[in-house]
Amino acid sequence: MGNHRTGLLHFVFIAITSAAADGGSDETCDAVTGKCSGLEYAADPPCYFPTTWLDVPVTAVRQDTHNSKIVSFGIPNEGSLNLPVSSAIMMNAPGFGPGGKDVMKPYNPISDHRIKGSFDLVVKVYPTGRASKFVDLLKVGDRVSFRQQKPQIKKWQYPFGKTSITMVAGGTGIAPMIQALYPLLKTPGDTTLIRLLYGNLSKRHYVKARVRSTGFRTSGPFTGHICSGLIAR
Ligand SMILES: Cc1cc2nc3c(=O)[nH]c(=O)nc-3n(C[C@H](O)[C@H](O)[C@H](O)COP(=O)(O)OP(=O)(O)OC[C@H]3O[C@@H](n4cnc5c(N)ncnc54)[C@H](O)[C@@H]3O)c2cc1C
Repeated sequence: MGNHRTGLLHFVFIAITSAAADGGSDETCDAVTGKCSGLEYAADPPCYFPTTWLDVPVTAVRQDTHNSKIVSFGIPNEGSLNLPVSSAIMMNAPGFGPGGKDVMKPYNPISDHRIKGSFDLVVKVYPTGRASKFVDLLKVGDRVSFRQQKPQIKKWQYPFGKTSITMVAGGTGIAPMIQALYPLLKTPGDTTLIRLLYGNLSKRHYVKARVRSTGFRTSGPFTGHICSGLIAR
């Protein structure tokens, strides 16, 4: 009976990623909802990015591991990304597709979507990758276009209504888990039991201490297990 109940209340997130214009002016954007007139949004409340491309500046680029970078982008007027949990945004890499066409790929921001004025992506750079090559070449001051699409919005949203959650992630698939961990671990009084199982090719590939560096508690109801070389192969 106890096991049956636990099974019903348990919830598993899985994400494994391996191989492969400024926001409208203050005059046209609602200060409370963030919605700008004339633009369409995929979510309500709206994400900073509408369903059409909007470009933002690169404000910092850091090498994270030997083959991954953390890139920070600025959001004008102290706006917040306001992205639904574990959702991705589409990035445009202009001219990096076959025959010099644009290529668009989804990325899950790793910063808390509520922080004002910026957001971060962690991107693994593939030697023959197209969008990731574009990211690898980014410098502070460059501008990059993003948009939000309905298919990238997950149905499950915080509060998840479960007493325990197991997260299984590989490689940069850690990114959507980090998004879910923000509300779970930062909401006072949230007692959800969380297990994170994370795998990567090797410790060298491990996205450095991402969970620790976010300032989450790592004891009590949260346990993290890192399995190098087990899940990603
Ligand atoms: C919802 C979602 C969220 C994501 N979030 C992130 C994120 O936060 N961070 C992140 O780094 N990535 C993320 N990704 C992956 C990202 O969207 C890109 O796929 C990734 O950056 C590679 O794109 P690329 O254009 O550089 O590589 P591509 O040009 O597509 O190729 C990447 C490499 O894989 C090889 N390859 C391509 N196709 C295949 C195949 N079928 N079989 C074997 N090898 C192949 C290529 O030769 C190349 O070496 C996410 C993906 C999804 C679907």
